[in-house]
Amino acid sequence: MVLRFAPSPTGLLHVGNLRTAIINWLFAKKNNQDFLLRIDDTDNTRSKKEYVDSIEKDLKWIGLDWDLKYAQSERLDAYDDAFNYLKSNNLIYRCFETDEELALKRARQRNSGLPPVYDRSSLSLSSDKINQYLSEGRSPYWRLKLPDSPITWKDEIYGEIRFDSKSYSDPVIVRADGRYLYTITSVVDDIFSKVSNIIRGSDHLTNSGIQIYLFQALGSKAPTFFHHSLMTGVDGDPLSKRIGSLSISSIRESGIEPEVLLNYLTFVGDITTQSEFYPINALAKNFDPKKLSKSNAPFDERLLKEVNSGFLQQQNYDFFIKKSGELKLKELSNEFWGAIRNNIKVFDEVKIWIDIIYGNIQPVIDDHEYINLALNLIPEGDFNELSWQNWTELIKEKSGRKGKKLFMPLRLAITGKDFGPEMAKLLLLIEKEKILSRLNGQIS
Ligand code: GLU
Repeated sequence: MVLRFAPSPTGLLHVGNLRTAIINWLFAKKNNQDFLLRIDDTDNTRSKKEYVDSIEKDLKWIGLDWDLKYAQSERLDAYDDAFNYLKSNNLIYRCFETDEELALKRARQRNSGLPPVYDRSSLSLSSDKINQYLSEGRSPYWRLKLPDSPITWKDEIYGEIRFDSKSYSDPVIVRADGRYLYTITSVVDDIFSKVSNIIRGSDHLTNSGIQIYLFQALGSKAPTFFHHSLMTGVDGDPLSKRIGSLSISSIRESGIEPEVLLNYLTFVGDITTQSEFYPINALAKNFDPKKLSKSNAPFDERLLKEVNSGFLQQQNYDFFIKKSGELKLKELSNEFWGAIRNNIKVFDEVKIWIDIIYGNIQPVIDDHEYINLALNLIPEGDFNELSWQNWTELIKEKSGRKGKKLFMPLRLAITGKDFGPEMAKLLLLIEKEKILSRLNGQIS
């Protein structure tokens, strides 16, 4: 038994598709089933190898591996067989109308208040007429003849569904140039791979009605269907409007950690804040598809960044060393990581603190008199854990300042920033010479 993720390689993977992939993967692993990566590339005008590569890279990055993989372009013979079977059983029919003719028909139907459903005129073409068209060199395309009675099924999330086939046009399954459409290829492959459950977005509900019929027409039992809600923006708008910025590659480049995106997409719609992060196998163990809801799953990039910063705060020194290696940064101490990890939203911001602590910065000094006073009171010798407290006590006594007025000018002079790690920790990390030069207003 198999679960599958079937992306069309016509663009970059985005958060909506990745969420579907994650749900299927978790379901497969929870139930000891295989996970199939199926590349739906029958549309050879839009499918690109570079997109296949980037989809695979994105899946691996987030931690989804696959047990099986194939591309639909390798399976044309199987589609030919299914096509011939449907043809010999009169379950499909040839059509010759051009796009313009169909558009005209639809316009006429709309004008007379009728739904723009294909009128099946090609179904009643005489064989003479068909032969005439063929001899004129017109290539037919093929439609599946939907049953007259409604198609009903139980969706595991949406419940009982009734699909009134009369309100839908018979779907085209083969184009005039011989290319098969997803409606048929997907079903042929799902039968071939013994797909047990199909979990996909609710935008596929109509396809499912048609495909459930097609499973039966091809002599097979339809798998169980789950249609999950679609992801939207925070305002509820469809994500399709901003799909570029929500590609997995742009999210990766923005510095979000894979564990964060994985957990976020697993729980999105369920929770608003997240402070616990589970490894992928633990997510699989506890996965319950019934918890998928019908209500929209809003994708909130700002929240994702917050969650990322929460994740970094929880990471230990091993994580820091691993990430530093990936970014080719020099290995810094556990104390450095401990001091700065609460002050970064994405790991790359480590570089800001490397510059501040070990590099050269321009100190920010407004009140030179105050900073000179502080300089004169700086503790002798090497700094220790108590140096900051002792030093600021002395400054407090001499200057009469307290709170922000006391601390902020020192922070600005020593780090150039008005935020950051505890000063007590920074005093232990930044060389004393450097601190003295900065208090003297020198770039150092
Ligand atoms: N290639 C289809 C898509 O990306 C697959 C849908 C399905 O899961 O059946 O929408």
